Amino acid sequence: MLAKEIFTDEVAWQAEWEQRFKGITKWCKRCVYNNKTPSIQFDVEGVCNYCAQYDQLMMQYPGGVSGKAAFQKIVDEIKRAGKNKKYDVIVGVSGGCDSSYMIHLAKEYGLRPLAVHFDNTYNSNIAVENIRNVLSATNVDLWTYVVDNEEYDEILRAFFKAGIMEIDMSTDLGLAATLNIAAKKYGIKYIFEGHSFRTEGVAPLGWAYMDAKYIQSVCKRFGHRIKFKSLPMMWLSSQLKWMLFNRLKKIRPLWYLDYQKEPTKEFLTKQFGWKWYGGHHLENRTCTFGHTYLNPRRFDVDQRSNGFSAEVRSGQLDREWAMAELRKAPKAEYESVDYLKKRLGVDEETFLGFMTQSRRTAQDFKTYKRTFERMRPFFYLMAKMELIPWTFYMKYTAKSEKK
Ligand SMILES: [Zn+2]
Repeated sequence: MLAKEIFTDEVAWQAEWEQRFKGITKWCKRCVYNNKTPSIQFDVEGVCNYCAQYDQLMMQYPGGVSGKAAFQKIVDEIKRAGKNKKYDVIVGVSGGCDSSYMIHLAKEYGLRPLAVHFDNTYNSNIAVENIRNVLSATNVDLWTYVVDNEEYDEILRAFFKAGIMEIDMSTDLGLAATLNIAAKKYGIKYIFEGHSFRTEGVAPLGWAYMDAKYIQSVCKRFGHRIKFKSLPMMWLSSQLKWMLFNRLKKIRPLWYLDYQKEPTKEFLTKQFGWKWYGGHHLENRTCTFGHTYLNPRRFDVDQRSNGFSAEVRSGQLDREWAMAELRKAPKAEYESVDYLKKRLGVDEETFLGFMTQSRRTAQDFKTYKRTFERMRPFFYLMAKMELIPWTFYMKYTAKSEKK
């Protein structure tokens, strides 16, 4: 049982964090993952399996001249396929750094993107402004899907009651489904995704498992009568349909290019008046709540180490600096905490009850994990054909460890 104080008292939280930090006994010699990172293994030189995964991705996507050439080839293919259409590629936008840059990139390569936004109704003001500024400067049209706020709140309440970590999975999956819906609506075959393994890393599975069946199973047990009328769901059947029937290609341009975070942020600010919101994925309040408050305090998960590790590996960040940063307790954005409590109509006592109750994980619910594992050879093929990202294959189809 977690002490209530660490959720309300910053001094208590600091002390708790220091205590937890002492529990780290082994660090990867190359990045800043450590013995607390799920499913971590170290080789004889003390380098972790996630670094090995990075090297594997770098072999496939080395960047540089050949990466650029490979991306140019994809761009040419997109242009051919988009001939006589108003748009040739979908770009999901959140107001964040990666997706904003993606819009610029698409325009720079002479593509005609349609920006698509999934609005979970928890956007920060900065995110909304960023989207507006970047799109108006680049003259790109926007298609937004807004989820029903009551339904979304109902789902969030169920997640709170369930005591799980993946507070944001309905947004991540909702966005993925929305991109597909928009692609179909406008007859577009290509979708750009803003992920970069060089700056963001591939989050360990134990930290972020998500699938539609998991959402459904949580809501069935903890949220009555949720019908998913408004939230676009990524059912396995629809995922297969998108892949096999619609043949939507999901491209991650930043995998091909030597993407650097800091120079990109500076560029966006100068070019579009874009604003940094203080952390990866923090353009949305549910995300901010998860990353800065819920995950570190309740689950002892520090997501800063994903980005830090990735940037250390790709030579964009100093390892010693990153380790010193991780020693400091993650700073909570209380605006998001208060906002969530108010929106969900949860009083302080109930809220603290949610925070301190016993933890549940995806393994306590029905998920697609076993099915994904059984379909591993099939998904390998799909990844080869670029119909799903490699990281999906690597993470979701690998045999899970026993609890
Ligand atoms: Zn490592």
